[in-house]
Amino acid sequence: MAGEQGTGRAFADIMRLAEQVEPGQPGWTRRVFSPEYRSSRALVAELMGGAGLTVTQDAAGNLIGKLPSDRPEAPALVLGSHTDTVLGGGRFDGMAGVAAAIEVARRLRERGQPLARPLWVVDFLGEEPNAFGISCVGSRAVAGALTREHLGLEGPDGRTLADALGEHGADPERIAEARWASGVVGSYLELHVEQGPRLERAGVGLGVVTAIAGIHRAEIRLVGRADHAGTTPMGQRRDALLAAAEVCLALEAIGSRDESGVATVGHLVLEPNSANVVPELVTLVAEYRSSDPNWLTESDRQLVEMISEAPSRRGVQGAMSWLSQEPPTACSADLMRLLTRAVGQLGEEPLALSSGAGHDAVQIASLCPVGMLFVPSRDGRSHCPEEWTEPDQVELGVRALEAAALELLSGGPNGEWA
Ligand SMILES: [Zn+2]
Repeated sequence: MAGEQGTGRAFADIMRLAEQVEPGQPGWTRRVFSPEYRSSRALVAELMGGAGLTVTQDAAGNLIGKLPSDRPEAPALVLGSHTDTVLGGGRFDGMAGVAAAIEVARRLRERGQPLARPLWVVDFLGEEPNAFGISCVGSRAVAGALTREHLGLEGPDGRTLADALGEHGADPERIAEARWASGVVGSYLELHVEQGPRLERAGVGLGVVTAIAGIHRAEIRLVGRADHAGTTPMGQRRDALLAAAEVCLALEAIGSRDESGVATVGHLVLEPNSANVVPELVTLVAEYRSSDPNWLTESDRQLVEMISEAPSRRGVQGAMSWLSQEPPTACSADLMRLLTRAVGQLGEEPLALSSGAGHDAVQIASLCPVGMLFVPSRDGRSHCPEEWTEPDQVELGVRALEAAALELLSGGPNGEWA
């Protein structure tokens, strides 16, 4: 590999970014709005500048690096991802995509590649869920979907999202200016770590994403009756926690009925949560995800039916309200073919797979066709310190992204992309 131009540079950039983490926090924590996030983005801007990109920060705090084309009016090719992490996260989720995009720009510029359309490299602000209860802040803003209500969301210390953006050097008053006008961007490609085990299990180096899962979340309230744990006979109880246990197992059955989706209860609050009191109230969040809209619709139906029946068998009242019903996002068939060709040029056969995790691409899909490329995650691990992708796997991803970008930037096989 030594001789190949630029080999290892994207991986080295990922490792440099990983040096900027929040002190005293687990793993490789660098959450949005932390001082370390802010300083790390000075490094991202420096890397973009070094690659020859002209860098600006927009009103939403997105870092955007541009390589010009002699056809400036042609819709831009956008390559991007994010550089914030979850608490206790790893070094690759998001960063791999930003580093790969910067490296692609670097290689194009070093070769003096003429561009049939502008190339933008974007580090979207705050993709991961934050203290304000919202994810994909920056990509929502460019899609025109970051609302006044979002900006007014309060964190635990009473600051609003607008306050946090302002303190971070963004300009929430001018958030509308961050929006990308229609026709300005033509295609979006995002390289990301898979965050699951399928590529590794199949022994395949690259995945072409078919769709990004839709997410349905419902809050379920189960109201029983608090009674003395020592004196109330088993047959006379209205135990909200036992009803919740049945709901959790029923949800597992909904998620396991075929391979099309997954279901989880990841949040549950119990009251009064006392060793000698029969539980009176449980609030839990049921979530399921699938890239198949029909699977989600059928899951909704089964969930509603189950909540109306299962708790009442224990004398417990069940009620539910939807927190979100986000539909799946389909990747562009044209861009899937393009990415498959690009992987094929490297002598590899990609795996077609859906994404169970959300990405900035979901927001950008309202603006232009989107495509995603996955590189493997060791042991399928992500959102944890163990997150790892080998240097040669990152390099393969960079080369595939580069080949795909090159086709779009050279006007396509028949010039149809321009
Ligand atoms: Zn990510």
